[in-house]
Amino acid sequence: MRFFVVILILLSGCQALPATKSMLLRSLDPPGKREVVRGQLVVHSDFHLPRRHRLLDELEQRRQDITELLNIPVSDEPIHVYLFENESAFTDYMQRKHPLFPNRRAFFVKNDTSLMVFAWWGSRVAEDLRHEVTHGYVHSAVNDIPLWLDEGIAEYFETPRANSGFNSPHFHLLLEQYDAGQWQPDLSRLENLRKANALTQMDYAESWLWVHYLLHHDVQTAGILQAHIEEVRLDPAGARSLHDLLTQSNRDATELLSHFEFLRKTVKP
Ligand SMILES: [Zn+2]
Repeated sequence: MRFFVVILILLSGCQALPATKSMLLRSLDPPGKREVVRGQLVVHSDFHLPRRHRLLDELEQRRQDITELLNIPVSDEPIHVYLFENESAFTDYMQRKHPLFPNRRAFFVKNDTSLMVFAWWGSRVAEDLRHEVTHGYVHSAVNDIPLWLDEGIAEYFETPRANSGFNSPHFHLLLEQYDAGQWQPDLSRLENLRKANALTQMDYAESWLWVHYLLHHDVQTAGILQAHIEEVRLDPAGARSLHDLLTQSNRDATELLSHFEFLRKTVKP
C-alpha cells in the first residue's frame, strides 16, 4: 500500500510546553533506540535486531534486483524503516501521528525530504517489508510513477526472492475470477486509477500480473516496461502510456492471457 503525505511542521513559539502536551509529543516518536544501516536502508527499532539478520540481507539485495530488472538508476537516498515491536505499538503510533490513514499492517510514506516505511514485527513482516521497501527503492529513483505500476512492482517484489516474482495469492484470485467469467484484463483502466485507497484486491492482482507478464514473457516485453519507466522517470507528464507502447509493438491483453494460461499449466495447484 502507499500513502503519500505532505507533513507540515508547525513551530510553536512557546519555550515551555505544558507537561501533558510534552508527554504527548514524546509518545509520537517512532522507534529509534537502535539503528542498523544496510545499504540504502536505515532500520530504526526499539528492540534488538541482529545486524546480519537474513531478512535484512534480503531487503538489501532487493535494491540490486529492482534496479537491474527495471533498469533504473541506483539512488543513495536513505530509506528510513521504522520497525515497531508489536501491532499495538504500531497502531498506537499511527493513530496518533496519522489519524486519517486507513487500518493497514504497514505503510510507505514519502514527503519532500524523506522516504519512510512503518511496519511491525509480526508473522507477515517479511512480506510487508519487501513490499514497502520496494516502494522506497523505486521512489528514490523515479519520483512520480503511476499508481497501478507502483503497486504492481511492489506486489511482484513482495514475494520471497526464490519465487522470482510469482505472487501465488494474486494468481489464484485472478484464476478464480477469470474462470467464473468475472474478470478480463484492462490495462487502460488500471492506468487511469488515481486514488490509492480506491484500489481493490483485484486491481493489485491484475497490476501484479501485468508486471509479471512484462518481465517474464520475453526480452522485448521487459524492454517495453523499462522504456516506459524511463519515460516516466524523465518526464512523468509527457510519458506515453504503457498501453500505447504495447499497442505500437503489436502486443495486447491477448498475450497477457497467454502468459496467464502458461502460468496455469506450470504452477502447482
Ligand atoms: Zn503498496
